[in-house]
Amino acid sequence: MKKYIRFICLTLFSLLILSSTGLQAEESLFNPEMVNTSFVQKLFSFIEKNREKVIKEWIFLTEIPAPSGYEHKRANYMKKQFEAAGLDEAYVDSSGNAVGIWKGSSQGKKIIISAHLDTVFQGVWEIKVKREGNILKAPGIGDDTASLINLLWSIRALKQAGFKPRNTYYFLDTVGEETGFVGLRAFLDSTKKKFDLVIALDGDLGGVQYGALGFGGGKFVFRGPGAHTIQSLGIPNPNLAVAKAVERICKIELPSSPLEKWTILNIGMIGGGRVRNAVSQESYFTVDLRSVDQEELERAQAEVMRICREVAEEEGVKLEMTLNEDSKAYQIPGARGSFLVRTVVDILEFLQVRDIEANPLGSTEANVGIEKGILSVNLGRTYGRYKHTLREEAEIDGLFIAMKQILLLVYCLQ
Ligand SMILES: [Zn+2]
Repeated sequence: MKKYIRFICLTLFSLLILSSTGLQAEESLFNPEMVNTSFVQKLFSFIEKNREKVIKEWIFLTEIPAPSGYEHKRANYMKKQFEAAGLDEAYVDSSGNAVGIWKGSSQGKKIIISAHLDTVFQGVWEIKVKREGNILKAPGIGDDTASLINLLWSIRALKQAGFKPRNTYYFLDTVGEETGFVGLRAFLDSTKKKFDLVIALDGDLGGVQYGALGFGGGKFVFRGPGAHTIQSLGIPNPNLAVAKAVERICKIELPSSPLEKWTILNIGMIGGGRVRNAVSQESYFTVDLRSVDQEELERAQAEVMRICREVAEEEGVKLEMTLNEDSKAYQIPGARGSFLVRTVVDILEFLQVRDIEANPLGSTEANVGIEKGILSVNLGRTYGRYKHTLREEAEIDGLFIAMKQILLLVYCLQ
């Protein structure tokens, strides 16, 4: 009896804790038996049967250059494919995003699945993909062309298998992801529709990001009158100010645990002075500060600024600060235990994906959804290397696993 009472008390206590923190764990929607249904088997055999066609179109799309701001060719191509696949609506919106809508029933959720059209390769207009066994090599092959292909072929697979969604899906191929999530933000800002989920496709397979990492830091410039070395006694020295400030900033204590508070900073650039025989007139450094938690981000940012002011005062130099403030940290309470994240992690485990990592450290389009309070997650596209460089590589086999991940997730969500 005593044991029984203790059990009730403990249960009540944990329920109280869970509800007060809003962290009730939800059920995963995935069940391995689903994979044996003829419907899921149809989906899988469709993508496998079309393996060479998928690879061919992946290469074709990668070879259409699309640096941020120049995505229109890819957008038009994707819009046409949405149309041809039989979606209910397909258009390029006023921002340049290709939008495909697959209508479900009125009781269903409204779900965005997005991948980005743009690449970071400004001025690169000639792209040729090299195929070496299981690897494709070209700038943009992975980030994020692989996700565009995953999304498109997932739609085709679902259509040919006769999928009738309960939810309404908004498939978005977005512009300007690499320059601050411009396309998805514009899409969400321009509509009054309430979305229930945002699923962004970006990053390496196995990654599941459910929170938005915030960015801080900035550029800090110190200025003084300068002087020849011979006359330099007592002259304020901006180089010395940089050295002192950097040393103090690197000693700021930043939390590395718990993960919900994780914060880091780096001095990425440093420079100053023009000649070796004079006191510098201008010296600078940059701080790249990132945090999962907005309060920690603001605390660290305030500390960086305080140190810079203090050092400027001590050294008698002028200070100019240009801060990075455009991207805040956001978290959805309970996101880790939500049905969405649990389902995705179960699917990845089932698919035996290596290096599964669910974390709140997202820097993808999913951040925009999270910022607007929508449960959002980012899912990977394949395995890759050398992202954002001209020698970027992506694995072919991983692409098909990533596609299965999307198909299973849509099947679970219906
Ligand atoms: Zn990307």
